[in-house]
Amino acid sequence: LADRLQNTIQKIRGKGKVTESDVKEMMREVRLALLEADVNFKVVKEFVKKVSERSVGQEVMKSLTPGQQVIKVVKEELTELMGGEQSQIAVSKRPPTVIMMAGLQGAGKTTTTGKLANLLRKKYNRSPMLVAADIYRPAAIKQLETLGKQLNMPVFSLGDQVSPVEIVRQALEQAKENHNDYVLVDTAGRLHIDGELMNELKEIKDLANPDEIFLVVDSMTGQDAVNVAQSFNEQLEITGVILTKLDGDTRGGAALSIRSVTQKPIKFVGMGEKLDALEPFHPERMASRILGMGDMLTLIEKAQASVDEEKARELEKKMRTMSFTFDDFLDQLGQVRKMGPLEDIIKMLPGANRMKGLDNLQVDEKKIGHVEAIIKSMTKAEKENPEIINAGRKKRIARGSGTNVQEVNRLLKQFEEMKKMMKQMTNMQQKGKKKGFKF
Ligand code: GDP
Ligand code: MG
Repeated sequence: LADRLQNTIQKIRGKGKVTESDVKEMMREVRLALLEADVNFKVVKEFVKKVSERSVGQEVMKSLTPGQQVIKVVKEELTELMGGEQSQIAVSKRPPTVIMMAGLQGAGKTTTTGKLANLLRKKYNRSPMLVAADIYRPAAIKQLETLGKQLNMPVFSLGDQVSPVEIVRQALEQAKENHNDYVLVDTAGRLHIDGELMNELKEIKDLANPDEIFLVVDSMTGQDAVNVAQSFNEQLEITGVILTKLDGDTRGGAALSIRSVTQKPIKFVGMGEKLDALEPFHPERMASRILGMGDMLTLIEKAQASVDEEKARELEKKMRTMSFTFDDFLDQLGQVRKMGPLEDIIKMLPGANRMKGLDNLQVDEKKIGHVEAIIKSMTKAEKENPEIINAGRKKRIARGSGTNVQEVNRLLKQFEEMKKMMKQMTNMQQKGKKKGFKF
């Protein structure tokens, strides 16, 4: 989606208002992308209509291009479509609270049962019991028991010769006796949905009357995930969805489709195989992910909030007339720093999450401090005419700022380069204006 949109954005840059044809063009891309992401046709239609209505004729925010403005609306509506943040879990008035896990084989039910139990204890201080009700998959009981051991939590099991319904019945009695306030039932899955599986799940449901029925869905399965969600919901009336394997490289289309088809909230997402890799679902983050732009919008919003409009205009004028001085440079540094630590800003850039070694990245805040100190040690004349800074002056500045001559030299050189770059940019801008776009 991102690539397609970027192209269209390029085309409609630099206008003061979003026109109907801008929006039409962008919506064509959005529509295609959403359909490709398995979103229901009707939902797409409605979505596009809503976004179009909101976008046309809007004044473009100073810091955004019309393209970005439309994307912002798209993102807000996507977020809305995926529902609010709903990571809370039901609590029964008469404990234990029963949570039933359902889903196809390999979706991540057993793993997620462990993760959820872990979360319930860690975050809510609960004492869950796990129930091994998958008697078909050879290693399923063992798998849950291993998880229980790792978590140091009780696992109720009667082997694979007792029916799942009977297992659950006895488990509930045991939980009451042992004062476990949550009972998490790990059920069997199948490779495909079949009547036998559904009947068994319904029997468990009728007996245990669960407070939550979570459908566990593998987010990598795309269109299938949507069909699975639809039929589980129809037959079992799920209360929420847990999307697993979101750490794999999916674009998150499943989240959107599942939510719109079932109208049930996505409560958690699985982000890895470890027991602490379960996170609340953040619709907004998912919207960004679907749009494939990192936290670009947050970044734009941040920039907008912290950069002083007036100053930005002044700066632009200075760049044009080439009267940009060290004072302006200092000012600009201040503006950038207002946005927060540089590391955070860089991490929000699109593609940054895919960049290797970013974890080790540490923008040297100290160096920026030095730069500031050096500039502050310059006289007014020096700041306005750096050419006059000779060897003697360099020594004085270095002493005054607690740095050394090399650092002063480096900054002077960087400043020269920057001015050169600005000159190029202004030239380009002048040419661009003739062609009808601006920066
Ligand atoms: P079940 O058949 O539905 O019980 O699925 P399992 O819990 O046995 O999980 C199947 C496989 O998916 C296992 O190898 C899990 O480690 C893996 N898995 C489950 N959730 C996630 C997740 O969020 N991320 C990743 N990467 N793997 C997961
Ligand atoms: Mg399992």
